Amino acid sequence: MSGRVLVVGAMGRMGERVRAALADHPTLSLGAAVERPSHPDIGRELAAGVVLGDDGADTLGSVDAAIIFATPNATLELLRRAADAGVPCAVGTTGFSPDQRKEIAILANRVGIVLAANFSVAVNVLFHLARNAARLLGDGFDAEILELHHSAKVDAPSGTALRIGEAVAEGRNQELKDRAVLAREGLTGPRPAESIGIQTLRGGDNPGEHTLYFVSQGERLELAHRASTRDHFARGAVRAAGWLLEQGPGLYDMEQVLGLGAGD
Ligand code: NAD
Repeated sequence: MSGRVLVVGAMGRMGERVRAALADHPTLSLGAAVERPSHPDIGRELAAGVVLGDDGADTLGSVDAAIIFATPNATLELLRRAADAGVPCAVGTTGFSPDQRKEIAILANRVGIVLAANFSVAVNVLFHLARNAARLLGDGFDAEILELHHSAKVDAPSGTALRIGEAVAEGRNQELKDRAVLAREGLTGPRPAESIGIQTLRGGDNPGEHTLYFVSQGERLELAHRASTRDHFARGAVRAAGWLLEQGPGLYDMEQVLGLGAGD
């Protein structure tokens, strides 16, 4: 299905790659682009007939879907307007508070939203494998997650690391919030059984690396994903936006876009 797409955060690291992915897409195209009001490029023409604006709500009448990689507050603001306008949104922003996640779920009763901490196809297969590995390994394997991202990243741990932790917890019929250990320092005592450790590294320009370790007595299983560009995230977000054109209201994840069943 063809469609025009609004890109929010259009001059950011991800927004720039999303615009490039749309330029290469056979049926979807850049319909509008917005940035924060103080951005120096406001008013610049980014593609034929598409001028960078500072108010996404203005553009919602002329687009079929939106792709958002911005700040949590800017994302919520746009989602409220998009729900009013009936424009489905693929959201890649991370770092939402629990209250913001609740509001997104409520808005999704009115419009289709794909909320994906990571739009990479391979990372979504990793979520799937993590869930199944946790279930298959059962007791006796300690789950630990290590993530590395570029030094400009402002939230920690990464949304992807948290999603891997959720997948492990789902595979064990548990909830991540009851099991997560996000920091260790000093006299921590022994590792609580069934906890899920998530540790963060920051540095350089790395677009994102995640490793899930299942550690047992005398053996270890590792599932790892390493990104060297942002293009696969951008292509995944564009794929999600195209998929949303044929969905009704609802809160979806990227595994659903890809047709990966949670229980397979
Ligand atoms: P970035 O800082 O390079 O880009 C964010 C852009 O949003 C900036 O250009 C900023 O000016 C813009 N922005 C801020 N306020 C705005 C507003 N009110 N209206 C419109 N635009 C506004 O960051 P980035 O590396 O592109 O990452 C953006 C988000 O995407 C982060 O939360 C990051 O963790 C997440 N991310 C997700 C994935 C994924 O696959 N889901 C991949 C990479 C990054």
